[in-house]
Amino acid sequence: MVVVSWSDDQTFARDAKTEQYAALFELKNVEQRKVSYHFNDLASHYHFGAMHPMKPFRLMLTDHLVLGYKMHEKLDWYRPRRATEEEVLEFHASEYVDFLKNVTPHNADKYKDMFEKFNIGGDCPIFDGMYDYARLTAGASIDASRKLISGVSDIAINWSGGLHHAKKFEPSGFCYVNDIVLAILNLLRVHPRVLYIDIDVHHGDGVQEAFYATDRVMTLSFHKYDGEYFPATGNFDEVGVGMGVHHALNVPIRDGIDDESYIRLFRAIVEPVLLSYQPSVVVLQCGADSLGGDRLGVFNLNIRAHGRCVNFVRELGFPLIVLGGGGYTPRNVSRLWCYETSVCLGVDLDPKLPSNIPFMKYFEPDYSLHPTLSGRVENKNSRKYLEMVRARILEELRYLNHAPSVQMQIMPPDIAGFLEEEEKRLQEEKQAAHEREYRASQEQKDAARAGEMTD
Ligand SMILES: [Zn+2]
Repeated sequence: MVVVSWSDDQTFARDAKTEQYAALFELKNVEQRKVSYHFNDLASHYHFGAMHPMKPFRLMLTDHLVLGYKMHEKLDWYRPRRATEEEVLEFHASEYVDFLKNVTPHNADKYKDMFEKFNIGGDCPIFDGMYDYARLTAGASIDASRKLISGVSDIAINWSGGLHHAKKFEPSGFCYVNDIVLAILNLLRVHPRVLYIDIDVHHGDGVQEAFYATDRVMTLSFHKYDGEYFPATGNFDEVGVGMGVHHALNVPIRDGIDDESYIRLFRAIVEPVLLSYQPSVVVLQCGADSLGGDRLGVFNLNIRAHGRCVNFVRELGFPLIVLGGGGYTPRNVSRLWCYETSVCLGVDLDPKLPSNIPFMKYFEPDYSLHPTLSGRVENKNSRKYLEMVRARILEELRYLNHAPSVQMQIMPPDIAGFLEEEEKRLQEEKQAAHEREYRASQEQKDAARAGEMTD
């Protein structure tokens, strides 16, 4: 029996039949938020190659755990369609999409000349059904954004998404189509400001790059940074350009960060960012490679600590899209995303995994939702270093003394054109504000000099 305990309604009595269908969790909050779960199981069937660390199979494991705990009874469950080509083209270049659409392992020779141009090989191989896989994962994120916009969901989850490295013209870091950018573009049709938070161990470079020149999206990425670790970007000095200046925030972390330091840093940064930027919606990328023991990761986080960050954002009450991302030790990826599904629902799960799930052997020997994952990498983040990181980010935030004032307009179908025009308009406004500020500071300096002379 996996049920924790039922602390509520004494009038509810269960017989053998209802017992069989009872949810395996305890309700924590009376006021439940509407949570939707967007997953097309076909996405878990693709295969990047035997030695490749990205295993879409981890999505199937996650799904088995979520179902095993019977959380589907509390979730709005959707099996999303594939993103259409038109939707993919909202962000990606047509030349790149044509390539993705046409190349297969069987005709790859014909396209060999284009591999270098499109960054194919190594991290991003050509595999069977590659474009279909990309469209499934992107379709789920677009679907999630739609449910949020329509108000059908308060929190929309897509564990197959979060593919934050994909660029406009090329794939990168196992990501071919950037579902996050497509979902955010859709949110921008109705939301004035979107905050993107990324807790994958790698820098969220593709999302940052897409919105680097706009203040309608703020990107905030927590990641390992030493100038070499993939993708080798994400230092403090990447802050955005033009209208987007001060709207890209990067939190460079060293190897081995532990639960307590990570949570403290996360809260100390996310809270002031929310206050300064005042987003109307939040997109949270929950890459599982920031867990301890990840095949490619270098942090020491346990599942509960990672989930604490998700819970912190959830409790702030913004409409929220929750996405997957990296994660290369499938048994822990699935534990994490199952746990974070329960966090979104506000329910407690029995730490002992349900015994009736397929692939139980993956969870040997402890069969626990919370194995100890910490302590495998030396923590190179001194308190002093983390305090410096926090101070640098808060310093950057001082430039955002108020949230940008975006007048709501009806989005034309050409969203990229709209963004360009919008950026131009905002750029002009900001330029005028800068000039006013500059004149005011000159006047102040002049007055100060005059004061010095008379003293
Ligand atoms: Zn990653």
